[in-house]
Amino acid sequence: MPAAIIAEPQETPLDLLKRVYGYEAFRGLQADVIADAMAGRDVLAVLPTGGGKSLCYQIPAILREGVGLVVSPLIALMADQVDALKALGVRAERLDSSMAFEDKTEALNAAARGEMDLLYLSPEALATGLAGRLSQLPVSLIAIDEAHCVSQWGHDFRPDYRALGRLKEMFPGVPRMAVTATADSRTRDDILAQLDLREPHTHVASFDRPNLALGAEPKGGGKSDRVIALVKAHKGESGIVYAATRDGTEKLAEALEKAGIPALAYHAGLDAEVRAERQRRFLLEEGLTMCATVAFGMGVDKPDVRFVIHADPPKTLEAYWQEVGRAGRDGKPAEGYALFGPADMRRSISWTMEGDAADEVKRVQLNKTRQLFAFFNGTECRRAAVRKYFGETDVQPCGDCDNCQREPGEGYDATKFAQMAVSAVLRCGQRIGRGRLIIHLLGQAKDGFDEDMQALSTYGIGTDLSKQGWNAVFDELLFSGLLAEGGDAMRPVIIVPDADAAKALFRGETEVWLRSDPNVRKTRT
Ligand code: ADP
Ligand code: ZN
Repeated sequence: MPAAIIAEPQETPLDLLKRVYGYEAFRGLQADVIADAMAGRDVLAVLPTGGGKSLCYQIPAILREGVGLVVSPLIALMADQVDALKALGVRAERLDSSMAFEDKTEALNAAARGEMDLLYLSPEALATGLAGRLSQLPVSLIAIDEAHCVSQWGHDFRPDYRALGRLKEMFPGVPRMAVTATADSRTRDDILAQLDLREPHTHVASFDRPNLALGAEPKGGGKSDRVIALVKAHKGESGIVYAATRDGTEKLAEALEKAGIPALAYHAGLDAEVRAERQRRFLLEEGLTMCATVAFGMGVDKPDVRFVIHADPPKTLEAYWQEVGRAGRDGKPAEGYALFGPADMRRSISWTMEGDAADEVKRVQLNKTRQLFAFFNGTECRRAAVRKYFGETDVQPCGDCDNCQREPGEGYDATKFAQMAVSAVLRCGQRIGRGRLIIHLLGQAKDGFDEDMQALSTYGIGTDLSKQGWNAVFDELLFSGLLAEGGDAMRPVIIVPDADAAKALFRGETEVWLRSDPNVRKTRT
């Protein structure tokens, strides 16, 4: 083992970066975040994945007097970081429930003697008997990794992160640093409030990925044909195709292989050795397509992934950005393309509803689902939309995405039809499903069927559109949130969730655009 590193007197963060880590310069906001921590300030740093968040707290922890505590939710990632630090000669240990009592005691004793630079702990550790010992230590800095987990507005709320609100009293006067890769502005505000940071500086890096060309389209029939065509456009290149289910990954890998494209499946149902071997091949070989569930990707650092295709949509925009972000790490052009459909949105909603999260958490998740599908279905610049979602302001259209590339005037103004659909929903009492609503709009109810509704003024007003056209309008309204599905999962009914938004539509203040004329059957080249 290399000799332990103790910061040298008068050493600056940059000196330490060069001497210990062997890097020449700080990246992005690292220097600013570190300067704040060195000055004893509380900070929140929002940096994209791969942006170098860990150095932001490691360096001040090493340089400042005492031990740096790092709270992290994932034992595996903690272990990786501790091993990497030890290999550099930094004195680091972790304290988690899987460790033997003696090992914990030894680490704590070393820290008490001032012979430890960093101690990693899980949030539970702060709620146990360890807390007393920890609060006796000379602590230089407390870092809260994955800080969005403290907020139920985030996409990965963890109740045990709530305990971190007590850090301020446990360690009075010790500077705290919250870091995360994903936090929209609401989540950011909540992190500051939950952790009760003291006059914090907030640093938010740009989430732009200028080399990513993004696109999305509604699923048609023959999903695997479409995926094959998308992958074929990247002949000889490496990429990832994400699917929602294990079975889906297997089927896609098979279909790609049949089409002459080298492909492997990867999911949590495979043996650990099989998974490791496939991951190894993906990293080493060129031109391999990995058809995977989200089990694949964490810690997979392959710079020349040229495409990430979502054969099924991800869960949230946060997850989407993390997943497409695995393409083009080398800075060269790469593509992210997603297929989505109303059935995916329905499934996502019913998973949330059937889950056992608190109602308030469910509401947040449902809202995130809605935002995700509105994004996919939307006509705004993709990259600009994601950056705004993450709280950036003053963003310009990227010029590379499918929406930026679309010819002006290609969209279709469906405001009039949207007004008809929303009034039909209201007139019919928000108690029938889409199929019956379309029959109502088309005036095609059979004798004796929905007779009470045949007398309404909306009956038969929609004959300018075909049934297929109405389906496109309803998809758009559901994706954009002007309509929503209520009732139970087996018999969904269409409702108007936001009366004010509906009023704005009727007054003509809100326009509704479709990507194309809803009466023209789409053909693909
Ligand atoms: P994050 O936690 O933000 O995803 P990491 O802290 O794991 O990112 O850093 C990502 C990679 O970038 C690591 O391999 C790290 O060593 C490297 N890295 C971080 N800062 C720098 C830097 N200033 N110069 C070069 N490489 C860096
Ligand atoms: Zn764009």
